[in-house]
Amino acid sequence: MSSCSPRELPFRLEAVRLPRAALPQSGDFAFDSDAFAAVDMAVDEHGMIASLRPSASGAGEWIGYPSLIEPHTHIDKAFTRARAYNPSQSFEGAREAIERDRATHFTFADAHLRMYRALSLAYSHGVVAVRTHIDSQPDRLEPCWKVYEQLRREWAGRLHLQAVVSLGSAKLQGEHGELLGRLAADHGALIGPVFYFDEQLEANVERAFELGERYGVDLDVHVDENNRGHANGMKAILAHLERKPFRGRMNLSHLCNLSRCPPEEIDALAARAAALDLTVISLPVANLHLQERDALHTPQWRGITAINALRQAGVSVALGGDNSQDMFVPWGALDPLVVLREAMLAAHIAAPLGEAVAMVSSAPANILRLHDTTRLHVGQLADFTLFKSHDAYAALSGDFVERLTLRRGRVVARRVWES
Ligand SMILES: [Zn+2]
Repeated sequence: MSSCSPRELPFRLEAVRLPRAALPQSGDFAFDSDAFAAVDMAVDEHGMIASLRPSASGAGEWIGYPSLIEPHTHIDKAFTRARAYNPSQSFEGAREAIERDRATHFTFADAHLRMYRALSLAYSHGVVAVRTHIDSQPDRLEPCWKVYEQLRREWAGRLHLQAVVSLGSAKLQGEHGELLGRLAADHGALIGPVFYFDEQLEANVERAFELGERYGVDLDVHVDENNRGHANGMKAILAHLERKPFRGRMNLSHLCNLSRCPPEEIDALAARAAALDLTVISLPVANLHLQERDALHTPQWRGITAINALRQAGVSVALGGDNSQDMFVPWGALDPLVVLREAMLAAHIAAPLGEAVAMVSSAPANILRLHDTTRLHVGQLADFTLFKSHDAYAALSGDFVERLTLRRGRVVARRVWES
């Protein structure tokens, strides 16, 4: 006998509203203007989805969201904001603050506590996979890479973890680049230089691809993350790839100043990126906080890449949270649904909410090369988020009675409004 409560297995949900991004592509679902459909779902005693069919009974009391992916964060620095205060809140101020903080605080125990907490938060928000960048300058490999290895063991079966070696691209030259190539290959990690718009740009792009090719790892780079250039890093990457194909995958993170190019140029660059199968991870919260902060005025440019044009050209775009409560970004609790809301608002994403949610579920799953479990179907584990709320937008606005994170059909996190 199954109950109608998602608090005990087995259970049934009547007319739960689910987004198109979470449902099988085939199926006779009737979507509303937000691209949500009412669905009757049953979850069996093993926490598997036993049935999933269009509901005849209209709207029930739950709104569902699929399992979520955090494709770009920096958990090695998470939760350092108060102790590593950045008075100017600028990039430069953040760089100085991290230097000071690293010299005085970064022990294995400190890093483990913060990185573990970051993963716990992500897990509580329904995240099933996290890709984190880890600072990897010559003198900074430890303690965070050792912590990362331990975290992979501690979270095995609950969170899939991927890491990216992160550092200024010039530091990939020479022996340290080879060392990082081996490190990435050994950890199933990626190479993730930060490209700057300078006279070394082309040489640094060349070097990153050379290492990716030699060590058989993918690249996920910070590029064009400022208000000065006009997609110069992206242009260098496109030109390189059009000359010399790369066997691995290439993801462009941030890509802020693409949106400073004229519209025709954006479309042309997006088409070239699509033809090369490049993917993009946009980090709207970090961009809103950091971009144009160096000017003493209210910013007019939002700092976010041209998400709509990229998607329209066929580029897969995912959304990430980036830094969380550190010297770079004081906001963030590793909740992709909050990031989605901010992106919808700041970037005027031209898709209904029920489709846009793919940018924090199936799109990042593909970018991370994961078997995509974000679309629910019969026989799959019941991993998803439920809001007891009257509306999909209301749920993401904080207008809900209860938020449940389910893994294998069991509630693993619960936020509740005690009225
Ligand atoms: Zn980042």
